[in-house]
Amino acid sequence: MSSITIALSKGRIFEETLPLLAAAGIEPTDDPETSRKLIIGTNRPDVRLVIVRATDTPTYVQYGAADLGIAGKDVLIEHGGVGLYQPLDLKIARCRMCVATPAGFDYEEAVRPGGRIRVATKYIETARRHFAEKGVHVDLIKLYGSMELAPLVGLADAIVDLVSSGGTLKANNLVAVEEIMPISSRLIVNQASLKTKREKIQPVLEAFEGVVK
Ligand code: ATP
Ligand code: MG
Repeated sequence: MSSITIALSKGRIFEETLPLLAAAGIEPTDDPETSRKLIIGTNRPDVRLVIVRATDTPTYVQYGAADLGIAGKDVLIEHGGVGLYQPLDLKIARCRMCVATPAGFDYEEAVRPGGRIRVATKYIETARRHFAEKGVHVDLIKLYGSMELAPLVGLADAIVDLVSSGGTLKANNLVAVEEIMPISSRLIVNQASLKTKREKIQPVLEAFEGVVK
């Protein structure tokens, strides 16, 4: 009998996925926030969860180390989606991908056609595409966190980052000057698993679909 492995990240994705798993009759036997286990069992002997860093989820599913996973659209764009089937927008972990600048910065002037801007971000691919579409030259600086600091200390003119409440921007005197796209998390499936384990995967997909609708 085949079994399935689902890759999830700790924090908001895990929490917001619990009701979806419950609808599919899947209940984790450990809490990843308190347990140090990276492989977590469930009430179903044929279903296990693996706890990975959010940005690593597509990689585990791409190579078939996990059959299913849940990943933000932000992460999927950076990964590229190779080897992944993305059947369902789960509408969880919602936020917005935005350009933000210091309150006094003349963004319109910087992004006029033929303009040039220095942008610090963890989302290099998203930022590259966005400014290419506008016909703006962009100097990209890769960061791994605390992007808000970059414009405050002269590392960049602007940042591309996720915004939900806007509280962190406000606390650092930054303003969201443009929304690039809305973000939510998607179910991702390994393309080979979908064929070889369809009888296990299809019911999970349908249960998730039922909750989302
Ligand atoms: P870490 O916080 O450990 O550095 P991470 O930021 O990649 O890792 P999370 O903060 O759990 O991990 O974010 C996971 C996903 O949730 C992101 O890829 C994004 O799609 C979404 N997300 C991130 N920040 C927010 C937010 N403030 N509100 C809603 N969804 C968010
Ligand atoms: Mg985070």
